[in-house]
Amino acid sequence: EVRVRFAPSPTGPLHIGGVRTALYNYLFAKKMGGKMLLRIEDTDQNRFIPGAENYIFEALEWCGIKLDESPIVGGPHAPYRQSERKPMYMDYAMKLVNEGNAYYAFDTAEELDAMRERLKAAKVATPQYNSITRNTMKNSLTLPEDEVKRRLESGEPYVIRLKVPRKEEIRLKDMIRGWVMVHSSAIDDKVLMKSDGMPTYHLANIVDDHLMEITHVIRGEEWLPSAPLHVLLYKYLGWESTMPEFAHLPLLLKPDGNGKLSKRDGDKLGFPVFPLNWVDPFTSEKSSGYRENGYLPEAFVNFLAFLGWNPGTQQEIFSMDELIDAFSIERIGKSGTRFDQNKVKWFNEQYLRAKPDEELAVYLLDALKEHNIDCSPEKAAKIASVMKERVTFPQDFWREAQYMFIAPETYNEQVAAKKWNAQAVNIFEQFKNELPTIEVFIAAEVKNLLNSILERNGVKLGAVMQALRLAVTGVEAGPDLMDIIEIIGKEETVKRLGTAIE
Ligand code: GLU
Repeated sequence: EVRVRFAPSPTGPLHIGGVRTALYNYLFAKKMGGKMLLRIEDTDQNRFIPGAENYIFEALEWCGIKLDESPIVGGPHAPYRQSERKPMYMDYAMKLVNEGNAYYAFDTAEELDAMRERLKAAKVATPQYNSITRNTMKNSLTLPEDEVKRRLESGEPYVIRLKVPRKEEIRLKDMIRGWVMVHSSAIDDKVLMKSDGMPTYHLANIVDDHLMEITHVIRGEEWLPSAPLHVLLYKYLGWESTMPEFAHLPLLLKPDGNGKLSKRDGDKLGFPVFPLNWVDPFTSEKSSGYRENGYLPEAFVNFLAFLGWNPGTQQEIFSMDELIDAFSIERIGKSGTRFDQNKVKWFNEQYLRAKPDEELAVYLLDALKEHNIDCSPEKAAKIASVMKERVTFPQDFWREAQYMFIAPETYNEQVAAKKWNAQAVNIFEQFKNELPTIEVFIAAEVKNLLNSILERNGVKLGAVMQALRLAVTGVEAGPDLMDIIEIIGKEETVKRLGTAIE
């Protein structure tokens, strides 16, 4: 059975890249008839941010990503928070120590800093604690055995580091990138257990993926450099035969393609990079989210799915079920994907338009209630039906349709100056006087009347249309004017024409 996990660290709001990782895990799991679990990787207590975990739950739920196992719904491998699994990790670290694949290190922060300085001064590009430098440091590979014992017994702080081999080619097969080869000299002797008794990400991640029977690790490209280290851990822990397959997702790039999309880009470029609004609990800094900006979750998910994957056909609109059906890791690209804010707007428009008018009417009715304006659901549905081609967000219905309820008080002077001439006023006058004769007040009848007046006066429709729209609605653009007049109604239209020619 396929089992995947989404394993975020609650160090802040989930960024759009994180949601994409969660989505791809979900699509893959469901496509394969497998399970997806959520594991909270909160071993770094210094970076814990209150509210971040809830944000993760809420964001996934909003997207419609349903978890088979999680800290909330539980599951056979509970607990699903690493902080609650703390006692489980030490045994594995000890196994590594006892078998000579990890060691105790007693270096103080000052000693580590001094080492880095030394290496920097010697022009070493990436100062590392590794097979070369560990010989100069204070650890159980360099100290006499009884000294190590004494230090441990006296309660001296220590960490446990992985003993990365000196000369070894580490290979792993990535489902997206193919074979990845790394030389062990490029890998640090990473800390596995911290001095506070908490495992680091690397150890906890591997132990949990193993215990939780994860078959596929699908995560962001930023984790690719850690993957060889993880392969070593699987080997040393004796879990090579059940090591999961890896798929590292391509980076999300800034809209101009220059570099990785960052959490700051949203504010700079004026589009959200978070699924939901977020207020930083320490700085009160606000970040805006897709949900609160009026994006529909289906549109957001559809957009996200295409940020790195494509179905290989022309079809762009996919429901979650259709995505599950069409998804495959083989169709994920290797190169970074540019974030395109116009595309996500386009998706939102498509999803809004596809909704029944009665449902769209609710957006308008909600706004009307806020403005204390009465409107029947039928009328709101009619307005929604003529307006839906013109909106990107639910809140646009009210913005675009205000004149259906509120008569204009001013008219754009530039347009008026050009088009609002004596001839137009003459037509308005007759139109106003004859509108009451229409018995069944529908757009087609209004149009007939206007046409016959125009014909009688030898005036072309094009000569008065813009001015007429301005007189009735106060704005220059909108849906078919006859439809608008039908919705506004006979009396109100007569009244507005009266005001316009006063
Ligand atoms: N906790 C890591 C993160 O925050 C998980 C990386 C992984 O999936 O292995 O992204």
